[in-house]
Amino acid sequence: MDVDIAVIGGGPAGATAARLLSRANRETVLIERDMKNEKPCGGGLLEKAFKAFDIPLSLIKKKVESIRIVSPKGNTHDISMNSAYLAIVHRAEFDEALRGAAAAEGAGLIEGTFIDLQHGDKSAVLRIKTAAGETRIRARHIIAADGVNSMVVKRMFGKFPRRIYTAHEIHHSGNVHADDLHRRCEFRFSSVTPPGFYSWIFPHRDGISIGTGSEHADEVGPFLDGLLRAKGFTNGHRRGYFIPVWDGSLYYKNGVYFVGDAAGMVLPFTYEGIYYAMRSAEFAVAAVLKNKPGLYKKLWQETYRKRYLVMRALQRYFLRNDDRMEKLVSLYGHPHIREASMRLWTQDDIKINLIGGFAALIKKYGGIR
Ligand SMILES: Cc1cc2nc3c(=O)[nH]c(=O)nc-3n(C[C@H](O)[C@H](O)[C@H](O)COP(=O)(O)OP(=O)(O)OC[C@H]3O[C@@H](n4cnc5c(N)ncnc54)[C@H](O)[C@@H]3O)c2cc1C
Repeated sequence: MDVDIAVIGGGPAGATAARLLSRANRETVLIERDMKNEKPCGGGLLEKAFKAFDIPLSLIKKKVESIRIVSPKGNTHDISMNSAYLAIVHRAEFDEALRGAAAAEGAGLIEGTFIDLQHGDKSAVLRIKTAAGETRIRARHIIAADGVNSMVVKRMFGKFPRRIYTAHEIHHSGNVHADDLHRRCEFRFSSVTPPGFYSWIFPHRDGISIGTGSEHADEVGPFLDGLLRAKGFTNGHRRGYFIPVWDGSLYYKNGVYFVGDAAGMVLPFTYEGIYYAMRSAEFAVAAVLKNKPGLYKKLWQETYRKRYLVMRALQRYFLRNDDRMEKLVSLYGHPHIREASMRLWTQDDIKINLIGGFAALIKKYGGIR
């Protein structure tokens, strides 16, 4: 098969890329290894994503309107999201709907697994394993959207993107005691959390999701056991998966654009990746359409680099030890900080001044030099 553009991976990044390319009348195939895949994920994304990408609101399973943060000593702040909300989607349904939207614009969908690629002069040949056997696809442009365990990255660079390991359990309604756990997201810092990360209790379509993560995979299980015990949960189905750690180095190489988790585009500190996967796909598509590979990095950096750097600096500073995490939670006692952080989180991404203003507030109240 000979095509203009091949997109590898049909999650939020790949499905969005295929949809936008097909809408621009470019011949595109989307290759997904499992059309029924349910990505292990909290499925939380801000409502702005639905507007930006014209996603049906009917995919929203629950709406979260407040955030609870809990300090190492158990101090708690509940923060209202004001008029915004965090939508909880079911990833299998969500991803399927995004792929359906790409197909409706004219993208060809292929169920198959990318195995390898060979670069030619003005194109590359992909080896794809399907149920009918191995097939080869020659493409002029390639978009690698095959997630944190990207085989495209592995084949081209010899290693996976840098990542941390997470584990979570879904506890079904029968086990859930408090109704408000279905309406708020809880972030817990330390005592039951590996250093450098947080634990979460999020609403999920089928109950609640409880999880945590670490760069050291072996400490995740014991910490999660502790959190479950503290909350009185037993007998959940545990799933482990990786989340990439952003370093901002991977955009394009040899005709291949890297988007979403394959490029590590997950926001430091919060580890949100769905929205940013879709935005990275949008920027890569703009570069393909103009045939200017460098445009992808330029658009991404103009829009998000500052935000990512601030979030990474906050994560490195505050999640270092219990004292600093205690300080972080106490900062949310200041109305200015609460309001600024909610605006920063929920509002349009291009408001760079807001990011600088937030960083200044944190310095002022946090006593950071
Ligand atoms: C436990 C956990 C909780 C999370 N919670 C949230 C959250 O609440 N909100 C949020 O915004 N982010 C969350 N994230 C991050 C989010 O899941 C990812 O950032 C997001 O899914 C990235 O989208 P993507 O399209 O880049 O990759 P993926 O969603 O991973 O999609 C990659 C696709 O490629 C396919 N694929 C893989 N290899 C191949 C191959 N060789 N050939 C063909 N196809 C292939 C896969 O089947 C998959 O469909 C969470 C992550 C984890 C692990």
